[in-house]
Amino acid sequence: MSSKEEMTDKGNAAKSESELRQELGEERYHVLREKGTERAFTGKYWDLKDDGTYHCAVCGEVLFSSETKYDSGSGWPSFYQPASGDAVKELPDSSHGMLRTEVVCQKCGSHLGHVFPDGPPQSGLRYCINSASLDFEKSGSGEEKED
Ligand code: FE
Repeated sequence: MSSKEEMTDKGNAAKSESELRQELGEERYHVLREKGTERAFTGKYWDLKDDGTYHCAVCGEVLFSSETKYDSGSGWPSFYQPASGDAVKELPDSSHGMLRTEVVCQKCGSHLGHVFPDGPPQSGLRYCINSASLDFEKSGSGEEKED
């Protein structure tokens, strides 16, 4: 097994895809770089209620805050808005016979999930995000990562 220290290094922009694959592991790599989807209720953050920020697992950019996380019942971490106006990019996605809006990290282009128009009143939007795409950092804990 590889170490815990590695995940705190977010100098991933310069890494090759094969280095990224090694560092992230097959499952996370598949979601982030091949637009995969983790199975519902299997990720590590769908039910997390702690205060903190959710970062891109590839580049470390702050993408979502626990303040906008809510329980959508979907089995994936759900947020009604991104951490900032330019944290994520939204792209049309017609794969799998559906018209959806894909959500990717604005900074590095990694796949995060999709956004749907059935969110709570705050925005009406549901950002349905894979746990595998995120690294959670608990408030006030500096640099806390778990594997
Ligand atoms: Fe990123």
